[in-house]
Amino acid sequence: MTTMSSAKRIQPPQITNKQLFIDGMWVNSVSGKTFPTVNPSTGEVLCQVSEGDKADIEMAVKAARRAFEGGPWPRMSSAERGRLIYKLAGAIEKHAEELAGLESLDNGKPFKDALGDVGLVIKCYRYYAGWADKIHGKTIPIEGPFSCFTRREAIGVVGQIIPWNFPLLMQAWKWGPALACGNTLVLKPAEQTPLSALRVTQLCADVGFPPGVINVVPGYGPTAGAALSEHMDVDKIAFTGETRTGQIVLTAAANSNLKRCSLELGGKSPNVIFADADLDAAVDGAYFALFFNQGQCCCAGSRLFVEEKIHDEFVEKLVAKARKQKVGDPFETDTTQGPQVSEEQMNRILGYVEAGKQGGAKLQVGGGRQGDKGYFVEPTVFSGVHDEMKIAKEEIFGPVMSVLKFKDVDEVIKRGNRTIYGLAAAVWTKDIQKAFALANGLRAGTVWVNCYDVFDAAAPFGGYKMSGLGRELGEYALDLYTEVKTVTIAI
Ligand code: NAD
Repeated sequence: MTTMSSAKRIQPPQITNKQLFIDGMWVNSVSGKTFPTVNPSTGEVLCQVSEGDKADIEMAVKAARRAFEGGPWPRMSSAERGRLIYKLAGAIEKHAEELAGLESLDNGKPFKDALGDVGLVIKCYRYYAGWADKIHGKTIPIEGPFSCFTRREAIGVVGQIIPWNFPLLMQAWKWGPALACGNTLVLKPAEQTPLSALRVTQLCADVGFPPGVINVVPGYGPTAGAALSEHMDVDKIAFTGETRTGQIVLTAAANSNLKRCSLELGGKSPNVIFADADLDAAVDGAYFALFFNQGQCCCAGSRLFVEEKIHDEFVEKLVAKARKQKVGDPFETDTTQGPQVSEEQMNRILGYVEAGKQGGAKLQVGGGRQGDKGYFVEPTVFSGVHDEMKIAKEEIFGPVMSVLKFKDVDEVIKRGNRTIYGLAAAVWTKDIQKAFALANGLRAGTVWVNCYDVFDAAAPFGGYKMSGLGRELGEYALDLYTEVKTVTIAI
């Protein structure tokens, strides 16, 4: 884990948008308050951002309601809506490096990873742009002298709350389908990473989204986020974040106006390596599954089950790989791991490392903070982890890998499913029987076979059990953003 390097350094971009965006205008918050957003590589404040609260959410929802009910948006043909989303994708492509730079600055992820996120963002908007004029109902042969058909209509005003781990991508997963279906929206970005969402908002204005269609209110969860989820005039809330917060949002939705609610929550995903797998590919895959994005992925392969006969060799290779990483400045082109998003997250992760040691797991490599500036955590691998240990049960959301041993297929399916979560899973094997047994047997919204974290805008993603409600991406996300109306006509 070196910190010195002669690699090229990318220049971070200027920060241009720091206010709330309501009804087509950049405004200060009603209270005039601001909050700092911090550079996790240095711990220094990047800038102050306007802090939205209940009063700002009120104005944003009113603007979204007006835009939903009148003006150019409801009159716009669905094809035209699609073309606007295409234009947004084009604008993002043109500003890809700037957006990736903002993401690295605010979140800490290596610039090349941020650029990868931007690529997925562009594809996501283009995918949903294509859907805009292909969302239609059915004709239904009901009994009697009637003609019956369904319409898929926009739900209305949509509230969206996103986390800090993939700010641009989470915004795209929410905005693409919401806009394609003709809704208007109010977004609350994560307080740790508001900058890239605000820049994309300006691009929306530039390409001609009408005022009020898109509103963005940065601020904190218990204030701005809560105001959005309990608002009586918001028709749907979409949330991504921690499971506990998801429960709060769902309760607020139920106790207010029964707004529709979709949730993408946490995970503790099993990643299963059989002895017959291509070992080098599986080591790379298992490493990536956990350490990608500094371990801050909801679908991280955080319970690594390794078949007993290859266990020791596998752990050795993982440790060697961990030692080769360059942890450091996200803007240096050879950096493979950046800082955690915040001091709070770093301390939480180090707490889990302590719990791993206390619980009797064997620390193979890492385990500490790296340096004393910024929020860097060494790539950490524990072996000898058992199902009942805290580090095997709770979401760590950091670069801490837990390796568990297993002996056979039935056992690993049973243990893999012994969790409150069900977001993702993976299996590495050359044996098609084992691959199918796990793909069918593991209760998770996504199962990858001989790969990990393969995402595509066309493939649905979401959780079983306490990992969520509903599916984002693909055709399935259209269900989250439309109501079905049945029209019956007497003939
Ligand atoms: P978090 O739940 O604390 O915050 C997420 C968002 O919710 C933020 O915008 C926050 O301000 C807001 N929020 C907080 N309290 C709120 C409240 N009372 N009412 C309304 N909104 C509130 O989660 P986090 O720490 O920012 O993100 C990490 C978590 O997100 C992890 O648990 C991870 O597994 C999960 N996650 C899941 C997915 C998925 O697709 N399933 C994707 C990314 C992250």
